[in-house]
Amino acid sequence: MSGSGADPIIQLRGVAKAFGKFQALRGVDLDVGRGERIVICGPSGSGKSTLIRCINRLEEHDAGTVVVDGVELSEDLRAIERIRREVGMVFQQFNLFPHLTVLENVALAPHTVLKLPLAEAEARAMQQLERVRIGDQAAKHPGQLSGGQQQRVAIARALCMQPRIMLFDEPTSALDPEMVKEVLDVMLELARGGMTMVVVTHEMGFARSVADRVLFMDAGRIVEQAPPAEFFAAPKHERTRDFLAKVL
Ligand code: ADP
Ligand code: MG
Repeated sequence: MSGSGADPIIQLRGVAKAFGKFQALRGVDLDVGRGERIVICGPSGSGKSTLIRCINRLEEHDAGTVVVDGVELSEDLRAIERIRREVGMVFQQFNLFPHLTVLENVALAPHTVLKLPLAEAEARAMQQLERVRIGDQAAKHPGQLSGGQQQRVAIARALCMQPRIMLFDEPTSALDPEMVKEVLDVMLELARGGMTMVVVTHEMGFARSVADRVLFMDAGRIVEQAPPAEFFAAPKHERTRDFLAKVL
């Protein structure tokens, strides 16, 4: 899929975002098709987090338009609420509540946001924990789990809202190397199941095997994008080549 399909689920046009005088995004255009898997890479500070945070309005863009599943993100709070339910996000830090059990962490939003009765929310949570192969840890507290297990709980928590899109912001960067694979494997399965995914990562093996398209960002712009085979074999821009020389 080239991303210029007729029915993109995410459409960004001329998206710009400044923090004070610093221009973090300098006019980004991006179409993501339904079921498409995008990997975004690029140097630290290039705007990758800011870009994906604009997709669920964790950041408010200053210029341009962001349309997600047919809804334009503006100041309309109902639109934002709707999009937040449809877009799951997983961060580098797991952000689990330490005083709640794993099951309670995952059942929390379905119970409080979707207003499911507690038993139903917990049943749904258990299904998602099993999906990420961690059902046996449901009664523990996050502090008793490894980093890889906690990140899988965070993925289950996002999936529990039955999102149409999943955003991942360097989900394996805070993990010890031996735990990276268990998280990537869960993401791989999600991709195989047809989930629309936008993943910021420097795991180029994952990009190669999962991405439909790899984007390279630098200084607030998408500098280059291509299917992985082409992206890795023949990067067009000097900056992409420099970057790949460092991460591969
Ligand atoms: P990346 O994820 O590619 O490392 P970010 O999108 O996090 O980059 O950040 C892009 C630039 O914007 C960085 O220089 C960062 O310091 C700056 N920035 C990001 N968030 C904020 C913020 N909330 N306040 C001020 N500057 C920010
Ligand atoms: Mg970042």
